Amino acid sequence: MKVPIGVSARHVHLTKEHFEILFGKDEKLGVLRNLTQPGEFASDKTVTIKGDKGSIDNVRIVGPFRTYTQVEISKTDSYKLGVNPPIRKSGDLEGSSPITIVGPKGEIKLNKGCILATRHIHMTPEDAKRLNLEGETKVKVLIDGIKGGILHNVILRVEENYKYELHLDLDDANAFLVNQGDVGTIIKYEKNI
Ligand SMILES: [Zn+2]
Repeated sequence: MKVPIGVSARHVHLTKEHFEILFGKDEKLGVLRNLTQPGEFASDKTVTIKGDKGSIDNVRIVGPFRTYTQVEISKTDSYKLGVNPPIRKSGDLEGSSPITIVGPKGEIKLNKGCILATRHIHMTPEDAKRLNLEGETKVKVLIDGIKGGILHNVILRVEENYKYELHLDLDDANAFLVNQGDVGTIIKYEKNI
């Protein structure tokens, strides 16, 4: 039950409307490089994100446009910004933190949208079957190595077009000394626990 690991740096997802406020109506969201999940790409554009205490420049916009705007940061980033985001699945933004996004042509003050992303594994229904994880919602993942350990509460995101990969934020990756492309081992939660 090996799983390849992808490390997610801080990034922003935008609606088309918000992109146009930040960059103007004539600007295009171009592809810098494709990401592992089909259709997802690191774009050629960055923004600044701002909280009560500070700001962080050069935060990459991940495309394509979504139906919601979301800022995914690490706990370490949250101290610098002076925000206190909850741990959430992508798109689950009710009660998430306020944040301001600044682009070259404008800025957006969001009253929600900043999260720490839940640890998650992308997989297809076929992967779930192959790994004997059908019906499971979360697993643990063992990381080997000198700073290895067990990651708890890793949720499963099962969709037909997903590519099998564990996504960790930079704080998790640094704490366990893992890099993009390293491999973890899935451990099932026992029933009844
Ligand atoms: Zn992901």
